[in-house]
Amino acid sequence: MKKKTIKNEIVFEGVGLHTGERSKIRIIPYDGGQIVFKKRKSEIPAHFSMVVETRRGVVLSNGSFTVYTVEHLLSALWGMEIDSVMILMDEGEEVPALDGSSLEFAQAIYSTGYVTLNDEIEFAGCRGVSYKDNGKEVQLVSSLEFKVTYFVDFPPPIGTQVFLAPLYDAGFYLENIAPARTFIFDFEVAKVKAMGLAKGGNLENTVVFTKDGVYNGNLRFKDEPVRHKILDFIGDMALLGRRIKGSVFVKKAGHTEHMEFIKKMEECDGV
Ligand code: ZN
Repeated sequence: MKKKTIKNEIVFEGVGLHTGERSKIRIIPYDGGQIVFKKRKSEIPAHFSMVVETRRGVVLSNGSFTVYTVEHLLSALWGMEIDSVMILMDEGEEVPALDGSSLEFAQAIYSTGYVTLNDEIEFAGCRGVSYKDNGKEVQLVSSLEFKVTYFVDFPPPIGTQVFLAPLYDAGFYLENIAPARTFIFDFEVAKVKAMGLAKGGNLENTVVFTKDGVYNGNLRFKDEPVRHKILDFIGDMALLGRRIKGSVFVKKAGHTEHMEFIKKMEECDGV
C-alpha cells in the first residue's frame, strides 16, 4: 500500500481551544511522506519526539515555534488515511477548535480527495507491547485485524463505555468517530482554566456534562465520550509516524499514556 496526500489545499480558520487566539491554517499537498507543521521557514514533523506537553491536549515544539492541540487534525488525517501533508500555520499557534470534533477536517479531506504517492506505507514491526500505570492501560496484541477497543470509566452520567473501531477505515472513521466532540465535566472547568488552559473553550466546541446530563444540547451519539477518546487515540498514534499492526486495547488512558505507549513501540522495534 502506498502513502497518500490530499489533492488540493484546504483552509481552516477559527479559535484555538487552549490559547483562545484566532488561528488560520492551510493544509497543502506534500510528497515528503510525512505530516509536517510549518511556520515561515521553520518546520516541525508530526513525531512524538517533538511533543512538549500532553495535559488535555498535545503540543509540539521545535524551540522556535509551538503548535497547540494538534490531535484532532492529526486524527482526521490519519483516520482518513492521509499520510503526507504540509500544515502551514499562517496565523496563531494552535489548530482551530471548530466544533470540538474532527468532523470538518475529515469532511474537507474527503471532499478534496487524495493523490497516491510513490512511498510505501510503513508499519511498526512490533506486534505485542503494553503500558500500564495506575489502572490505565494501553496494550497491543497480535491480530490480523487492525483495530482499537477503548474502555472508559467516568463519573456519572458518562459511566463505563466501550467502543471498537477499525484503525484504518476512512468510511467508518468519517461516520462514527470524526463527529465525536471534546467533553468536560462542569466540576473540572475551574481547575482547567486555573491551569491556563481552555481559554477558547465554549459551549459551541465542548460538550459540558453535569451530574444530571448534558448542559449544552444533545449528544451526537449516546457513547460520544468514548468515541472521542478513540478520535484522540488515532490522532496521537499519527505521531508514531508508522502504522500499528494488530489489535489495541486501551483502558482509562489519555494523551500521556498514549505517548508512553508510542515510546514502548519504538523501544520494541529498536528504532
Ligand atoms: Zn480530543
